[in-house]
Amino acid sequence: MSTSDDSPILVWFRNDLRLLDHPALVEAVERSSAVVPLFVWAPDEEAPWEPGKSSRWWLRHSLESLADELGSHGLDLVTRPGPSDETLIEIADEVGAQGVFWNERVAPHLRERDESVAQTLEQEGFDVRTFESRILHDPDEVQTTSGGPYHVYTPFWKKFQKVVDVREPLSFPDLETVDRPAPSLSSVPLDELFEVGSQEGLAEAWTPGSAAARDRLDAFLEGILEGYDASREIPGDDGTSRLSPYLHHGELSPAMVWEAVQESDVVQSDDDPESVETYLQEIVWREFSYHLLHHYPETDHQPLKDKFEAFEWRNHATQLERWTRGETGYPIVDAGMRQLQEIGWMHNRVRMIAGSFLTKDLLLPWQEGAAWFWEHLVDADIANNTMGWQWAAGCGADAQPFFRMFNPVSQSERYDSSGEYIRRWVPELRDLPDDAIHAPWNAASSTLADADLTLGDDYPEPLVDHSKARERALEEWRRIK
Ligand SMILES: Cc1cc2nc3c(=O)[nH]c(=O)nc-3n(C[C@H](O)[C@H](O)[C@H](O)COP(=O)(O)OP(=O)(O)OC[C@H]3O[C@@H](n4cnc5c(N)ncnc54)[C@H](O)[C@@H]3O)c2cc1C
Repeated sequence: MSTSDDSPILVWFRNDLRLLDHPALVEAVERSSAVVPLFVWAPDEEAPWEPGKSSRWWLRHSLESLADELGSHGLDLVTRPGPSDETLIEIADEVGAQGVFWNERVAPHLRERDESVAQTLEQEGFDVRTFESRILHDPDEVQTTSGGPYHVYTPFWKKFQKVVDVREPLSFPDLETVDRPAPSLSSVPLDELFEVGSQEGLAEAWTPGSAAARDRLDAFLEGILEGYDASREIPGDDGTSRLSPYLHHGELSPAMVWEAVQESDVVQSDDDPESVETYLQEIVWREFSYHLLHHYPETDHQPLKDKFEAFEWRNHATQLERWTRGETGYPIVDAGMRQLQEIGWMHNRVRMIAGSFLTKDLLLPWQEGAAWFWEHLVDADIANNTMGWQWAAGCGADAQPFFRMFNPVSQSERYDSSGEYIRRWVPELRDLPDDAIHAPWNAASSTLADADLTLGDDYPEPLVDHSKARERALEEWRRIK
């Protein structure tokens, strides 16, 4: 191993697929005139949370975009299969590297993997440096006044505002001075590294990559942020930022989003401070989810509230399958589940409704819902998904109490009053009038006939009666209470 300043530094890209605000890359470029950007495909090391099919699709396209961006600065992205430690050592040896730098991942099981990789590399004599850019707060630093983690969001948000000084994003590294190390390294082409299938619905809805991420951020700041406070609740509108997959894959860092919001016209002109505050709070919900997962690493599979360990979830494969396919007979739930299947994303309000329906109306385990979302979401994120599902099931921190159950019909009437969202994703209901679309089983037979709809044939009868399901759920909840 060579140790001169000219010997290369490997920069291990993971879910930080960007060049801006990339501390590991900036540091590598400052320390050496030769940098090797690389990606290692080692899904087994992420088990049981290896990327699902939609995440894999995103990852592939985002890596292609990163490779193009690096290529335009004269650098090749090296892509190889794992195991990570062996591959990193192999490449480091090949180029005579002095060290390996990376940005940390926050999920506990990945931290453990990274610590073990770092140890192996250090034993081999390589300089290992790691950097934080995934979240804005340090979960061990932000503590309640009595010490320890937060369990409730509002005090967490207040403390966050008081003690977290959101850092400015780093600027673009000076890549023009960086050399490609010789000999030129071989890569395994991405299409040989992992399969993604064609996924037309995803391709129509999304453009992965950091350039598209910045475009979407700009479009959000210019056209959606003003009014976000209200528009974010309407699933039929394009009323949220849709930045979640970009934040998950790291095409944007939260510091970049934070700064862009502060510099936006809406903030500068002080036109809609409520919407700005609400949006920043959403970004901090993401922080809260990482805070919780950091302190309660077992919550990806265990309820945070212990008493829920005694909760007797039902086991019903057919009902679970009907939920996954968007065939529950409750239009708002089915619209969400089909949106998820089609474009790998679901509106937050509908994630909450569909989650509540699975866990409270059907009494099926939240872990089943989390696993399905994991496989299908382009933004599948272990911290956010875990918190979202525990919230929906009533067993997490700051959760919707179990006894407070969403009524899928009144939620639908309130947030999709015109039925636009339902019509988009459940086209067989398109011709029903607005007042019948939320609960077709209550519609007069003439209304159904006019819409050319036969329940049980063109569209399912409801899987359960919500008021009876509610009673059943409350009974089970009282048993553990
Ligand atoms: C059951 C369930 C599962 C979920 N699974 C995931 C998941 O796997 N990955 C994921 O990123 N989000 C998840 N969420 C949170 C939320 O639904 C999405 O972050 C949001 O819908 C993304 O859309 P957006 O980027 O347009 O959000 P915006 O409203 O524009 O919010 C901006 C950003 O803030 C963060 N954010 C917003 N709402 C939340 C929230 N409730 N919790 C944590 N962070 C939030 C996201 O990073 C989001 O991109 C889940 C929510 C529920 C109820």
